[in-house]
Amino acid sequence: GGAVRALEGEIAERTRVERALRASQAALTHQVHHDPLTGLANRVRFRERVAAALASADSRYTAVLAIDLDGFKKVNDTFGHANGDALLVEFTTRLLSATRGSDVVARIGGDEFAVLLRFVRAESEAHLVADRIMRALDMPVSLGGQATSVAASIGVALTASAPADAPVSTSARAAPSDTLGPVDALLHNADVALYHAKTGGKGRWAEFDPSMVEVATQRRTLQGDLCLALAQDELELYYQPVVSLTSGSITRMEALLRWTHPTRGPIAPSTFIPLAEESGLIVSLGCWALNQACRQLAIWQREGRATSGGESLSVAVNISGRQMQYAGFVGEVESALQESGVLPGSVILELTENSVVHQPEASRDRMRALKKAGVRLALDDFGTGYSALSYVQYFPIDILKIDRSFVEGVTPGSVAEGLVRAIVLLGKALSLETVAEGIENQDQRECIARMGCDFGQGYLFARPMPAADIERLLPIRQGEPVEV
Ligand code: C2E
Ligand code: MG
Ligand code: MG
Repeated sequence: GGAVRALEGEIAERTRVERALRASQAALTHQVHHDPLTGLANRVRFRERVAAALASADSRYTAVLAIDLDGFKKVNDTFGHANGDALLVEFTTRLLSATRGSDVVARIGGDEFAVLLRFVRAESEAHLVADRIMRALDMPVSLGGQATSVAASIGVALTASAPADAPVSTSARAAPSDTLGPVDALLHNADVALYHAKTGGKGRWAEFDPSMVEVATQRRTLQGDLCLALAQDELELYYQPVVSLTSGSITRMEALLRWTHPTRGPIAPSTFIPLAEESGLIVSLGCWALNQACRQLAIWQREGRATSGGESLSVAVNISGRQMQYAGFVGEVESALQESGVLPGSVILELTENSVVHQPEASRDRMRALKKAGVRLALDDFGTGYSALSYVQYFPIDILKIDRSFVEGVTPGSVAEGLVRAIVLLGKALSLETVAEGIENQDQRECIARMGCDFGQGYLFARPMPAADIERLLPIRQGEPVEV
């Protein structure tokens, strides 16, 4: 009896151990296949599930939705990582509620998600899911006690998985390259569509189309061409006058980069500046622009070109966030000032909110160092970023540039009018100069001047123009050269 009981005990123990082993193995497998924060399938698992879906012979479609949160990095930097994580978890809940249990929802990377839809009967089914996800995400999220709206961009790619179908690379939904397997081709197509959705204005979805591959290739080519642009003398600075709203005189101008491509002609800054920021080339382009603007201003100051009020001219140069993060930046500014011999106080650096809120302390230190070098600082496109109002006080800035999107809508009694008025008052309270960007008509000018805004810039006064045209606007004052 005792021997049997001992044996039974041993068997029970062994079963227990085996069960525990199996459980820990399952836990391990789960860990390898799932994202710990959201519990969703990870990239490895997602690829497996896509492969399985493509392998199962069926005449219906398989669809992949690649999803990316718009501005997640900004949220993370502004509200902190704990809030960033909370947002991802909230996003996961909404994503699950917008899909069916039979769909596979995965977290592919930081703020990248993907959904696999199987046995899709028609393309419109995938579109419906994309719409549903958009709507689910469109509701505000409370972050750090602040209601924040988050949007997502979605790329949709479908493939017919029936073996009878034409090979993937020659069908209408062509793979971008024959070297990719069907799984990677589908995921890649979804990514290409996602990229398209993001660059097409964000907060929307796009379905893959072979012509998108062409666009992506062109982009890469353009990025390569931009690397050569500086050496090949294809870049130029234009200057746009900034006008005093009280006296009407030109007091300063903003230097704006222009690129004339050898075969494609002029390329808009909204196209090539993001390319340069993506590749990091903006650091050297920006350095060139700064030196060029300082040299030009020094010439104008020496020639005695002054404002009609007699003050010396200033120039404003746009500075990318990448430059602010570059350790040698302050040194670059100091040498640009020295080598040109310009009056340091007549150089304004325009920073965007988003480029300084990432690392507020480090940015503030750098801004202080810049102020010590003698330049003035402006916050560009004010009102469009994520920064809290308190930042305006935190950073040592001198000028607020009110974004064109507010100025555009200014009519008496409009919401935009209220916003511009509020920003002007904020500027006054903090002793900052205010500049309204993008003034295009007399009504806007009068309305904004009445609010007490100091300066205006826009097509109403002048478009950006080459240095030679600026010289016609600012004749040399005979006999009264300005001392520099
Ligand atoms: P920004 O710094 O806000 O420059 C103002 C933009 O508004 C310029 O566009 C200017 O041409 C445009 N603008 C001025 N008045 C009006 C108006 O009345 N109506 C309209 N519709 N637009 C007006 P641009 O030259 O295309 O430059 C776009 C952006 O590219 C700039 O916005 C700036 O963020 C960036 N950028 C330009 N040059 C540089 C540069 O040297 N470095 C860096 N980092 N960014 C630059
Ligand atoms: Mg600017
Ligand atoms: Mg601006």
